[in-house]
Amino acid sequence: FNVPYAVNEPINSYAAGTPERAELQKVYDEMWNSTADVPLYIGSEQVRTNKKNDIRPPHDHRHVVGHFYDGDASHVRKAIDTALAAREKWANLPWEQRASIFLKMADLIAGPYRAKMNAATMIGQGKNAFQAEIDSACEIVDFLRFNVQYMTEIYAEQPISDDGIWNRVEYRPLEGFLYAVTPFNFTAIAGNLPTCMAMMGNVVVWKPSDKQMLSAGVLMEVFKEAGVPDGVINMVQGDPAEITDICFDHEEFAGIHFTGSTGVFNHFWKEIGARVNKYKSYPTIVGETGGKDFVWAHKSANPKAVATALVRGAFEYQGQKCSAASRAYIPQSLWEGVKNYMEADLKEIKMGSPRDFTNFVNAVISKDSFDKIKGFISRAKESNDAEVVLGGNADDSKGYFIEPTVILAKTPDYESIREEIFGPVLTVFVYEDEKWEQSLDLVNNTSIYALTGAIFSQDRYVADFASKKLVDAAGNFYVNDKPTGAVVGQQPFGGARKSGTNDKAGSAQNLLRWVSPRLIKETF
Ligand code: GLU
Repeated sequence: FNVPYAVNEPINSYAAGTPERAELQKVYDEMWNSTADVPLYIGSEQVRTNKKNDIRPPHDHRHVVGHFYDGDASHVRKAIDTALAAREKWANLPWEQRASIFLKMADLIAGPYRAKMNAATMIGQGKNAFQAEIDSACEIVDFLRFNVQYMTEIYAEQPISDDGIWNRVEYRPLEGFLYAVTPFNFTAIAGNLPTCMAMMGNVVVWKPSDKQMLSAGVLMEVFKEAGVPDGVINMVQGDPAEITDICFDHEEFAGIHFTGSTGVFNHFWKEIGARVNKYKSYPTIVGETGGKDFVWAHKSANPKAVATALVRGAFEYQGQKCSAASRAYIPQSLWEGVKNYMEADLKEIKMGSPRDFTNFVNAVISKDSFDKIKGFISRAKESNDAEVVLGGNADDSKGYFIEPTVILAKTPDYESIREEIFGPVLTVFVYEDEKWEQSLDLVNNTSIYALTGAIFSQDRYVADFASKKLVDAAGNFYVNDKPTGAVVGQQPFGGARKSGTNDKAGSAQNLLRWVSPRLIKETF
């Protein structure tokens, strides 16, 4: 069985005057002027309850673009039962046939659903067209195609057989059902987590973020159209604590695939640990969590390159990425230049609705996020240990808009250099050029996280030294590039420490977490 060798899906630019832009604008306007209705998906049923919630675009919170529904305990139980009932047939379907479903899904997203996926991500999650394209079109398609390729490699690899002995490994799905919990910030993550588990023959209960429901609804439509059988991926929504509790409390709970905050993931470990005697097998726990991702520059670095990496790394998608550059360590001799380049870039950047394709910055996701981020900025304005050097304004009257903001920290453990903010705020610490080795210790020891990081140096010896010194500080380590924007098939993504279990998204290693191999030795 040969699948096409995966290559990255080409990125549309949506440049002015292109047919892609016209098509995307048309679909965007249709979605804007209609009311999406996103049910719970339990097997073949689409469930609507009397707990109806509005879907509102973050950049215009007075406007309603759709609704979704909260289920209760009975819906979650039914989703689990439905998944388990679908398991045997799905697990026994030849994997080549499962593969073809996910390849078709990729084609649907790359083709007929592309504009719809992107419009939903722009309106519902506040991405500009280019950011949506990279996420809800290209990255999902890449996850699907590369994972299918990794899957074929996994199933093909077999142990040695010799002398009348026949060894083989069956990569069985895990026994039970799996639970996927996904965040608002990447439609691609929402697309990847349930599908990569289902691909390996598992059945899934999926809870998307309640702030991603517009694109989650489109994803479910695509799953159905691609031919994922009823019951294999069930989507529930409602009280997150209740849904999780019911899943964890079930003896057939076989694992969780999570992307979200470190606090929630810590809680999950404890809850699963407390119930360990209940389960048939030890559940698989995979998570990608928080980050406090660094950019460190040496005096040999090119200040313009550093500034560009900081502006893109910290402010693209309003900094709402686990990978966002959020603390920078800049040598004294470069700081003036880096700051001036950043200031010049930020002057060019426009903020506003994603419908205007010239806007780079959009709103942050919610009122809660807005308040939290604004809190960090306000405290920095008042603190003796910090100074707001660029940006700093915020206005939530129409949408949750926060200007790209740079804080200069005067102490290396200032709060915004330690804590994850998940917003368009970068904190810079300026160090004395000759203390560059000590500054690497600050990078290594200031944060509990180890997701991404970037170093800038034109001196290879320094780069090599820094890379060794920071060996445990980032799961994705970039030299002379920004710490965001990992591409499936090129930079498998994930980190350690309190950033997760480092089971790289988009890798055979990740897929192998969702199988339970059976070795069979035969001597006839
Ligand atoms: N994979 C994304 C990147 O490299 C980040 C994903 C996340 O925020 O969880 O920027």
